[in-house]
Amino acid sequence: MSANWSRNAFVYLLIIVAAATLFINIYRPGDAPQQISLTQLANRIKAGEVETVIVRDSELRIILAGNDAAVVSRRERDVPITQILAGLGVKPAQLAAVNIKYESPANAGNWLSLLVNLLPLVFIGALFFILFRQTQGSNNQALSFGKSKARVFTGDKPTVKFDDVAGSDEAKEELKEVVEFLKEPQKFAALGARIPKGVLLVGPPGTGKTLMAKAVSGEAGVPFFSISGSEFVEMFVGVGASRVRDLFEQAKRNSPCIIFIDEIDAVGRYRGTGLGGSHDEREQTLNQILVEMDGFGTDTNVILIAATNRPDILDPALLRPGRFDRRVTMDRPDVVGRRAILEVHVKGKPVEPTIDLNLIARQTPGFVGADLENVVNEAAILAARRNKRAIGMRELQEAVERVGMGGPERRSRLMTPHEKKVVAYHEAGHAVVAHLCKHSDPVQKVTIVPRGGAGGYVWRVAEKDRLLAKRAYFLDNIAVALGGRIAEELVFGDISNGAAMDIQQLTQMARAMVTRYGMSEKMGPLQFGQQDELVFLGRDLAEQRDYSEEVAEEIDAEVQELVSAAYARVRALLSENIDMLHKVANALLERETLSGEEFKELFAAA
Ligand code: ADP
Ligand code: MG
Ligand code: ZN
Repeated sequence: MSANWSRNAFVYLLIIVAAATLFINIYRPGDAPQQISLTQLANRIKAGEVETVIVRDSELRIILAGNDAAVVSRRERDVPITQILAGLGVKPAQLAAVNIKYESPANAGNWLSLLVNLLPLVFIGALFFILFRQTQGSNNQALSFGKSKARVFTGDKPTVKFDDVAGSDEAKEELKEVVEFLKEPQKFAALGARIPKGVLLVGPPGTGKTLMAKAVSGEAGVPFFSISGSEFVEMFVGVGASRVRDLFEQAKRNSPCIIFIDEIDAVGRYRGTGLGGSHDEREQTLNQILVEMDGFGTDTNVILIAATNRPDILDPALLRPGRFDRRVTMDRPDVVGRRAILEVHVKGKPVEPTIDLNLIARQTPGFVGADLENVVNEAAILAARRNKRAIGMRELQEAVERVGMGGPERRSRLMTPHEKKVVAYHEAGHAVVAHLCKHSDPVQKVTIVPRGGAGGYVWRVAEKDRLLAKRAYFLDNIAVALGGRIAEELVFGDISNGAAMDIQQLTQMARAMVTRYGMSEKMGPLQFGQQDELVFLGRDLAEQRDYSEEVAEEIDAEVQELVSAAYARVRALLSENIDMLHKVANALLERETLSGEEFKELFAAA
């Protein structure tokens, strides 16, 4: 848009300049000297009025006394001017009083006037050229754009080592081979071993894929060339492919080395699926990557590492043997991994000796490396703001909540006393049900301090990471999710929209029990609908239905059945324990936040 604008402005400027020069050429300014005849000149010389006569090719320029000037056009150029004047009766003495100068025709003044005369033509020519180019479409323009922006790839040598990537031990184990190969390629070549060309790092965002790729090159001590798939997508036609060529060329010159293609899904999508614009460009870029990979001889010590969180949409051609045939998964870290990651990021920062990273690790299921790094960073900021010398447990815990819930506490948000009461009962409902259901994770914290989008929340923490979850666990979780809404119903006889998230969650859970986990007796251990294998992405990809309309109805009925059974159970449970509900809600209204221990004490006292 702005490039367009400036080009248009340029065109307008050219038009104005061209018009102005034409104007100047046609209407010579008023200082033009008067035109006189030869006879008049002769008369003036006789009268002694002429000081100088400058003889030019086609005219005589006369400088009169008093600095006036005149021009005489000169027709007979072959006859010397003195002779002509003599013929007109000018006496030799009179002529001698006049200073006669001869100017060669090729002097600067003439060139200048020539230029001034040609200027409009030049401008008009330029104008046409530009207009012509404008109609040529964007292709041409894109090409020259790409050329001028050609980037030089620099292979920096990362200092990151495997030790900086915590957890992910399996991934490291698999990548060690790559490191060895980069270090001592001869050893492998001597045995005729086929060396991996491409390694695909797969995992959700923030699990350290980029970090791991850098660590491989850091461990091997080889240069690291990187480019991001999304960079290609922004390019114009033809540029992506040439970038790939440049990249590979430079890499080959610097081998052994690593080429890292981040977010390869941006270019490596299934060909032919026209998602997003300019997929021709994507195809060309992808083709170029494939061509380059196939062009690697066994003696090329270049290893490609690509990262993606969507391996499911990659073009199968990329995954064929000899291409990205190694797949290394970087999953969300478990409790042990999280602890290790926290340790990596705490290292080198002043921390109080009392901090318990195990506890923080347990409180952060689902957090990825990037989140944990963020936690430590937030904690450091909090500690600095409190003028502390070291990061303490309090800061870490607050940081966990901040990162987990998105945004700092918003104590300032105005809640009417009634709203506050509703939220207190709602959260108390969740907490009490969680406490009473023995398969639920224990309550770690209950609060009615609004945070992020939530009015309050109950925080439950698993004692250990769960690999397998039993049917009873899911049922209890559905019950806990219902607890908030049912508490509101029992106490106020009315419900608010505060339970929208709960309802969404429990519906998903109930549906998954029926269609994915085979936990419904009626429907049996069958999967309904082709779900994506990558559950860890936490994204619901479009489900492909592979069942009939009748089965769909049965599924719906079964889901409904599950939820209404849970509903009846929770209603009974809370009615029986209504005193407990009041007690917790009142404690919340008073203190706003209850820790896990405080919450349990309330129960014990009952
Ligand atoms: P991805 O490329 O998978 O999205 P990154 O490699 O960009 O993730 O990770 C972002 C940041 O998170 C890293 O720079 C690092 O500080 C931190 N991080 C992620 N995973 C780990 C890990 N396993 N160990 C230590 N730090 C990690
Ligand atoms: Mg990354
Ligand atoms: Zn709720």
